[in-house]
Amino acid sequence: MSNRTLQLSSELHDYLLSVGVRETSIQCRLREETALLREAGMQIAPEEGEFLALLVRLLNARNILEIGTFTGYSALSMALALPSGGRILTCDVNREWTDIARRYWQEAGVEERIELRLGPALDTLRNLKVRESLANHFDMVFIDADKDAYRDYYELALQLTRPGGLLVIDNTLWSGRVVDPAQTDPNTVAIRELNRHLHADARIDVCLVPIADGVTLAHKRQ
Ligand code: SAM
Ligand code: CA
Repeated sequence: MSNRTLQLSSELHDYLLSVGVRETSIQCRLREETALLREAGMQIAPEEGEFLALLVRLLNARNILEIGTFTGYSALSMALALPSGGRILTCDVNREWTDIARRYWQEAGVEERIELRLGPALDTLRNLKVRESLANHFDMVFIDADKDAYRDYYELALQLTRPGGLLVIDNTLWSGRVVDPAQTDPNTVAIRELNRHLHADARIDVCLVPIADGVTLAHKRQ
């Protein structure tokens, strides 16, 4: 028994995956194909995919915004959990990686539920708000792109989320670098600053969940 979050040994992590995650064979193959890429470490962990899927179900989310598609694992996990008529709008800048994503979404029969917007996400978010009048529209937003823009993504995403909706922000423990004062690179500084900002932000209720690389849940107050 412990009243602190456990450090997971490899054995305990394997156990967690064996009893805590129901991954489909398509999700599993997407992980295997992504593992061949140099950037494979950017993909979310399978237990995080299961967690996102459960959040989608708990919120009964129908409109989801994702910032950072990569090869599509997180979008696939959330899309599989959507009710019929549910939609995900996902943003990325990289065609090569998102072409892999599209193949797997198609194979899983969820491509109709996912709209990919290629281009800098800040431009996409500003367009969603201003040109497409989608303020207060999304039930859930998953933020997982370039870390130095996290604060801007958060502010725009909060405006695009409906009251009572949920923002999910990935990598908020940043491999532990957030507590190492020697780490002063822009990504670490940006995550540290966002974490402090979220903690003080009265517009949300917040909880940093120590799953994978740290996942912060920010619930927009009504
Ligand atoms: N959620 C993904 C998954 O489950 O596999 C992982 C996303 S990965 C950590 C970050 C992604 O953000 C990359 O695919 C990268 O191309 C994208 N990205 C980086 N800068 C961006 C920007 N300015 N606008 C949109 N996407 C960006
Ligand atoms: Ca991530």
